[in-house]
Amino acid sequence: MLGLLGAPGAESEFALPISSKTVERWACDCSMTRVLMKDSVVIDVGRAERVIKGPKRRALIARDKHCQWPGCERPASWCDGHHIVHWINGGGLELENLVLLCQRHHWLVHEGEWQIVKTGADEIVPVAPTRLFGMPRGPD
Ligand SMILES: [Zn+2]
Ligand SMILES: [Zn+2]
Repeated sequence: MLGLLGAPGAESEFALPISSKTVERWACDCSMTRVLMKDSVVIDVGRAERVIKGPKRRALIARDKHCQWPGCERPASWCDGHHIVHWINGGGLELENLVLLCQRHHWLVHEGEWQIVKTGADEIVPVAPTRLFGMPRGPD
């Protein structure tokens, strides 16, 4: 999740290796359990806790009501809470850093590399990824 070069993909039961972008999306809004290991031996397991839970989740749903991608009105029950600055990068759990996105648009932000920019009016503006095709070759 730190985006380190050469880091192995994540693993899941009955699946091929999973990209760090997919794990990042899952980690935006999931239940997490802390598992401490030492020398490949589990030494402690914590309780599962949701990343966005209780009153914070209710406040997010009350504020956004549906996916906040412009033109999308998929209901909150179809949405994940997305961290505009991901918690792995130091983003907080305050409401200003959270936005409801349906699974399709949440996927676009993480795996599709779109960016979300929040305006002063509490609206979000999606910014398409920059793709560079056919870079000019230098002289041979
Ligand atoms: Zn997210
Ligand atoms: Zn949407």
